[in-house]
Amino acid sequence: MSSPIPDQAGLVLEAFAAAYGGAPDGVWQAPGRVNLIGEHTDYNEGFVLPFAIDRSARVAVRARPDRRVRLASTYGREGVVDLGPDGITREAARGWTVYPAGVMWALRQRGVEVPGFDLVLESNVPLGSGLSSSHAIECAVAISLAELSGAQLSTEELVLLTQRAENDFVGAPTGIMDQSASLRATAGHAVFLDCRDQHAELIPFDAPAAGLTVLVVDTKVAHSHADGGYASRRAACELGAEVLGVDALRDVASADLAEARGLLDEVTFRRVRHVVTEDERVLRTVDALRSEGPAAIGPLLDESHASMRDDFEISCPELDLAVETARASGAVGARMTGGGFGGSAIALVPTTAAASVRDEVAAAFARAGYREPEVFSVSPADGARRLL
Ligand code: ADP
Ligand code: MG
Repeated sequence: MSSPIPDQAGLVLEAFAAAYGGAPDGVWQAPGRVNLIGEHTDYNEGFVLPFAIDRSARVAVRARPDRRVRLASTYGREGVVDLGPDGITREAARGWTVYPAGVMWALRQRGVEVPGFDLVLESNVPLGSGLSSSHAIECAVAISLAELSGAQLSTEELVLLTQRAENDFVGAPTGIMDQSASLRATAGHAVFLDCRDQHAELIPFDAPAAGLTVLVVDTKVAHSHADGGYASRRAACELGAEVLGVDALRDVASADLAEARGLLDEVTFRRVRHVVTEDERVLRTVDALRSEGPAAIGPLLDESHASMRDDFEISCPELDLAVETARASGAVGARMTGGGFGGSAIALVPTTAAASVRDEVAAAFARAGYREPEVFSVSPADGARRLL
């Protein structure tokens, strides 16, 4: 007797049959993520606390007897992209295909004999909202190709492999948070990750069971200084670490801040203070989740936002309005999430108040003359796995 087809696989199977005919060898799925707390701490070798969300990328893949690679997504109108008879070159891959191509390249770099394959992608992770739709693709592709190639790769290795694909093939200077969340998460938990040594622990974060909902407010704005702002914040952190004589800001304790103030210029000091106190807030959030549960972390989310707004200076009027309005209409805590200068905020709200918080935020944006935000709920979900 054949096992029933999971509902989530229906769309991608249909698309696979339409693109290539027949059925794939399997369907693999990997989720997007929300970072609960720990912003701009990753490249300072500190702590982050993301969770996987109930929105995922799915890939249906069938190995080929040759080395040809063909890719298609249900999003957009590009149809099937043929990367040619030998699979991957950086030149052949463009647009979204750099993500699967990059993963395949990184696997081959590692000596894994990846066969050619036909792939269809289907994803309900919103693009470019800061929920890491790109890592969802990379993780789904990584676990599918590793399995089809017969390679036994640990999660640590998959994390580094997808990082290599992003850094050296896609050309994005990203760390290990997003793929660690996507690969390691389980439902009802957040992933407490030490970005220095990749040590990861699952921390209970069952918001729905606590009567709470995580709302994402996608402001739909991307301020033009985002890239430059990110680079200058990284540079300030490096300068701070150098002047303070540490490998990374992770090594600075909050007790050292008074002394650091005398050694750093005013702006660098505030950048450092954000990172140092944010690391501490991640640790306090982990403690609070363990001892008291999700309702106890609201003030930590609020403090995190204030630190990013005032010390790291990466918020913007739209994010501040989203956070303030959510709080004023019943959220237990709220903060911007992601790199900053636009993107999304998250609010932890009583589930009974979720609809009214959403309406209040939308109304406040309309009054301010801002673009209509997209507000939706997410819940802590399982990490990457084979569906079929
Ligand atoms: P984020 O990862 O925060 O969502 P990125 O800019 O890193 O934002 O990644 C978004 C990119 O990922 C898109 O520009 C597109 O190339 C690709 N992408 C995401 N989802 C899909 C999809 N369903 N189909 C095709 N490409 C996608
Ligand atoms: Mg991305």
